[in-house]
This record gives sequence, C-alpha cells and structure tokens, in this order.
Amino acid sequence: MSANFNSTPNKPARHRSWAEPFKIKMVELLKTTTIEERQRAIAEAGYNTFLLRSEDVYIDLLTDSGVSAMSDRQWAGMMLGDESYAGSANFYHLEATVRECYSYAHMVPTHQGRAAEHILSKLLIKPGDYVPGNMYFTTTRLHQELAGGTFVDVIVDEAHDPQSELPFKGNVDIAKLDALVERVDAKNIPYVSLATCVNMAGGQPVSMANLRELRDWCTRHKVLLVHDMTRVAENAWFIKQREVGYADKSVAAIVHEICALTDAATMSAKKDALVNIGGFLAMNDPDLYRRACDMIVVYEGLHTYGGLAGRDMEAMAIGIRESIDDNHIRARIGQVEYLGAKLQAAGVPIVRPVGGHAVFLDARRILPHVAQELLPAQALAAALYVDSGVRAMERGVVSAGRDAKTGQNYYPKLELVRLTIPRRVYTQAHMDVVAESVIEVTEQAASIRGLRFVYEPEQLRFFLGRFEPVA
Ligand SMILES: *Cc1c(COP(=O)(O)O)cnc(C)c1O
Repeated sequence: MSANFNSTPNKPARHRSWAEPFKIKMVELLKTTTIEERQRAIAEAGYNTFLLRSEDVYIDLLTDSGVSAMSDRQWAGMMLGDESYAGSANFYHLEATVRECYSYAHMVPTHQGRAAEHILSKLLIKPGDYVPGNMYFTTTRLHQELAGGTFVDVIVDEAHDPQSELPFKGNVDIAKLDALVERVDAKNIPYVSLATCVNMAGGQPVSMANLRELRDWCTRHKVLLVHDMTRVAENAWFIKQREVGYADKSVAAIVHEICALTDAATMSAKKDALVNIGGFLAMNDPDLYRRACDMIVVYEGLHTYGGLAGRDMEAMAIGIRESIDDNHIRARIGQVEYLGAKLQAAGVPIVRPVGGHAVFLDARRILPHVAQELLPAQALAAALYVDSGVRAMERGVVSAGRDAKTGQNYYPKLELVRLTIPRRVYTQAHMDVVAESVIEVTEQAASIRGLRFVYEPEQLRFFLGRFEPVA
C-alpha cells in the first residue's frame, strides 16, 4: 500500500485526525461514585454544580478556566521562578512574550482576568457611560456596572439563535453601534468591549473583516477598542478555517493581527494561555499604562508581579507560545468538535456551529416542559451530574442575573448547559462517556423537574446560589 504513504515530507497529508500533539507523562486517578452517592451530593450542593466537591465528580466539564494540564516545559519554567518583590526576571519574559505574540506595548500582570477588568473599568468608565460589547460576560459586565457604566449588547442577532449556522456569530452589528451613538453620543462611550470567541454565545468567533470594520468605526468616533482576549487563539483557528485569505496563515500570525487591531486588552490566562492562575491588562497607550500601574499597586501588587508569583508568570510566558501553535489548537478544537458531532448525530439539540471551548446544550429544546422561570438549564446540569458524575454548568437565566436598576431577572434567549472541555486533560474515551450520558438524560428529559432559588446571592448568583426542586 505504498501509494498511501506520504513520502514527500512537505506534502500535506490527505486526511489525518486531530490526535493530540503530546503524550501523557503523569496521571491523576479519579474516584467513581454510585448514583445514590451523586443524588446525595447534588442535594447537599443545593443543586448547584459549583458547590459540588471535585472529588465527587468523574469528568469535570464545569469550566475550561485554570484547569489545563501544563506541559513539562511549563513545569520546568516553574522552577525558574524569580521570586523577587520587584523586577522579577519572569515579568520581563512575560512582557516580551505579550509584545511579540500579542503586539501590546505594555502589560501589567493580574491574578486573573476579572482583576484586569476591574482596573480597566475603573480607569476608563465614568458614571453614566455606556459600554457596548458583543454579548455580555458575567464578570466583565459586573465590573462595568460597578464603575457606573451600562452595558449595551451589540452582537449580531444570530448570536441569540442556537440554530443559526452563521460562521461568525461573535460579530459586532455595526448598525447597533451607530444606533447607540445616535442615542447617547460617542463621548459617553469610553470603549467598545470586544470578546474574541464569545463565551456566552457558545464560543462563537469574530471575523477579521468584522474586526477591521469595528476598528474603523472606533477610530472614526474616537472610541477605544478593548479586547477581551481570553480565547483569542481559538478565535484565530476559526478565522483560519472559515475566512477567505487566512487558510495559509499560522494561528500565531492571525492572533497577532487580531490584537494589533485593538487598543488594549484584558486576559484571563487561565483559559487559552494554559496556566492554572494568572491574567493581565495590556495596552498601547503609555499614559493608560502609567495609570494602570498606579492602580495595580492598590488592588493587586507591584506592577511587575500584580498578584502572581514569579513562577506563575514564567509558566504563562511559556503557555502563551504553546497556545498559539497550530497543532495545539487543531487538537484542542478537534476534541470539542468530536463531542459536538457525536451529540448532534444522536439528535441532541446543541448550539450550532460547535464553539471553540465547549459544547452547549440547548436546554429550552431539551426541557420544553420547564418554563424559563424554573431554571431549566440549572436543572439539566444537575440531572446530568446524577446520571454519570459529569459536571457541567448553567449558562441561562441564573447566570444572566438581575438588572441592577430594576431588580428584574434578565431572561436571555439562550438557556444553555455548557460542557466545557479543559485543555489537554481528557481523552476521546472520556468524550464518549459524556456523549452517552447526555444522550440518555436527553431521552429521559420528561422526568426532569424545574428548580427554584432557596438562596440567591446579590452578585454573580450562579456561583453560590442554592436551589430546590419544585413539586
Ligand atoms: C473567564 C473569563 C473572564 C474572567 O476571567 P477570570 O480569570 O475568571 O477572572 C473574562 N472574560 C471571559 C470571556 C472569560 O471567559
């Protein structure tokens, strides 16, 4: 069968699966539990998967945040931690990496993404301002509101439709921005908040064409463009796959091009950048950098460590480079798409197209008998855990919270359960078990009842809220 052999080294293989570009050096053993144990555990956790103990979980798809497996090189980097209070060598390595890979001239480390959002919101937003964004993110919107701003959703309408097959459902609808300027005037818009691979829309990417248009719009209206770059590498992979002219560009080059079109960025390095803790705030404007340094010493730490140990900054610098490698991203998203394809083949309603970091189950369609007031996605996540020990997360009315001004619940169109795939952690066989369990729970969905709050925190209620089944 020598005809199937690819003898020229540079000739691309015709078809090869997305197999992982790594092998496993160390394993962590998992506990298995019985269905009775899981029923007890979820009741004790108030039917909130955030309140389960992780040792009671078999396959943990709660989040992709801070749960990546680091490489041997990153672990070696941990040993190179320069734990100096000021001017750590690891800070300079990280700063140089952010400049080279992401284009931003200045960077202050933070302990994670929301700390960067906090500092940025305080620096740029004044009470009464409006902050448009391509769909809200929980912590991002909260920090905008705490600074006195009002979030305005300017994502394309298709993003709210789980069945729309649009390839770039993360795009900004420029007409919505124009309408906002008409209504409130550009001087009350400090910046546009642009997320790449929009989490709340199902991990949906933004196209380069849309980003260029947005760049022009911001320049024209003298409004800053701030990039939530938590999942920029995954966004770059989709541009490479779907946008004309990018097939032959590397993910690294596309990532750089995206960042270079924006003015500043907040990063949760716990996602794309393959570390267990860390983030940063980056910008090009030296004056904004100076003001960020002044504020970082109040809330995080000196501007050369910002709440991180030297070893954490080293692991992040190495992780950033690994995260923008084509082979890494191909396998990462390949695994997510593998799970999505299995569920779709079985007829499970999911958000289409499958996103970069997670498969999102459409709880509205799986539980049509549970009204949105009775928190269908929260109930579905609890039922999935009881079935198999797979831990997922609600992204629906519970996550959406209440309008800060009126106190009314936000009722988002998307009522989803997120199966978030940690990077480099689980195997294809794990994905098979997840799919089997989701399919079975979906088939028995008629027996799932809704939930109601028994404890509702004021902010970010999905983290610590407690629930009980309704009769
Ligand atoms: C996780 C996340 C954040 C917040 O980052 P943390 O590191 O969890 O504080 C902000 N934006 C997006 C899109 C995220 O996914």
